[in-house]
Amino acid sequence: MLDIQKIRAEFPILSQKVNGKPLVYFDNGATSQKPQIVIDAEVKYYQEINANIHRGVHTLSQLATDAYEISRGKVQQHINAKFAHEVLFTSGTTHGINLVTNGFASILKPGDEVIVSSLEHHSNIVPWQMLCEKTGATLKVIPMNEDGELIMEAFDALLSEKTKVVTVNHISNALGIINPIKYIIDKAHAVGAAVLIDGAQAVPHLKPNVQELDCDFYAFSGHKMCGPTGTGILYGKEEWLNKLPPYQGGGEMIKEVTFEKTTYADLPHKFEAGTPNIAGGIVLGTAIDYLNNIGFENIQQYENELLEHATKRLLEIEGLRIYGTGKNKASVVSFNIDGIHPYDVGSIIDKLGIAVRTGHHCAQPIMNFFCIPGTIRASFSFYNTKEEIDTMVEAVKKAKTMLS
Ligand code: PLP
Repeated sequence: MLDIQKIRAEFPILSQKVNGKPLVYFDNGATSQKPQIVIDAEVKYYQEINANIHRGVHTLSQLATDAYEISRGKVQQHINAKFAHEVLFTSGTTHGINLVTNGFASILKPGDEVIVSSLEHHSNIVPWQMLCEKTGATLKVIPMNEDGELIMEAFDALLSEKTKVVTVNHISNALGIINPIKYIIDKAHAVGAAVLIDGAQAVPHLKPNVQELDCDFYAFSGHKMCGPTGTGILYGKEEWLNKLPPYQGGGEMIKEVTFEKTTYADLPHKFEAGTPNIAGGIVLGTAIDYLNNIGFENIQQYENELLEHATKRLLEIEGLRIYGTGKNKASVVSFNIDGIHPYDVGSIIDKLGIAVRTGHHCAQPIMNFFCIPGTIRASFSFYNTKEEIDTMVEAVKKAKTMLS
């Protein structure tokens, strides 16, 4: 059992008032809040060991380098990567995906096929579209059903020897649906395709095991899992990272530079050009420790209770429809009220201190599928409470009365 009040006290922002009301923060899908231990670790880095990494012989540089590499090791353990050099620091999921699509530009040929899903965030659509435009490959899309679940028979039918890459998110940001990624990975591998999993929405809720999943790439952001903004990880299997060309050129990613020829550094440095977000990378390790101390089993169990409570309470409101009614879901509820624009509801409940996301959630194809401009999305974290959900439900009722 989690001591939620104790946990809440660790997040200074949660005791704030917004618009004169106690903050109810349900926009965790966009970014999570940060516990004091993470905030302190960022300050401590700048107060005590700030220096550039991997290049200085002086003590501070070595301390900073050690802390950065220790953090890489923590991520490796956390996601169960085989090697620390398979863990690349990035600025976030978007960066990680673009690194991979840039690499595949030298691999794909006209006639090759890339499969994405209809549940993707724009970050996992647009880079693949750009790649297809560049290479002449074709983009195929796994369709979904009315419950927001990917249709696996249709996926099976899309696969062929032409399929070179398959990419899906682990959990949909717009609907909260958890995708059957193990099935997708195994099927894609059976036709020789590489698989990238967009884990941006999964890592706040679960601990991915990349060796068990056997995915080729797994990208995620630090800021959605209690870490700093501008941090992220791209896991890539060693063989793939060796095969792909570097993403950016610059310092740190080279072995030797002459005007005639440059040779590249070994993994992971080949993909880490320039001075990275050193503080952020180190503090991401602190955030991961923090989450592991709470325990992902505890997090999941509690968040499922929040999801169940929110679903039940929201459905009491007449004319309210939840999108993403599939069985396998993370703690996200995306909904609309008949005849009312989601933006209007979001604006009114913001005045009552409640932060939800309204709009297309960077997933316009999903909104097009349901023929709606957007939804109101409440995404819950382990530091939220059932009482906060009740407050939101009352606020939504009030907004409905005002707008009807
Ligand atoms: N993929 C998914 C499923 C997301 O939810 C997000 C962000 O909301 C991203 C990718 C992009 O993450 P970032 O903006 O941190 O790069």
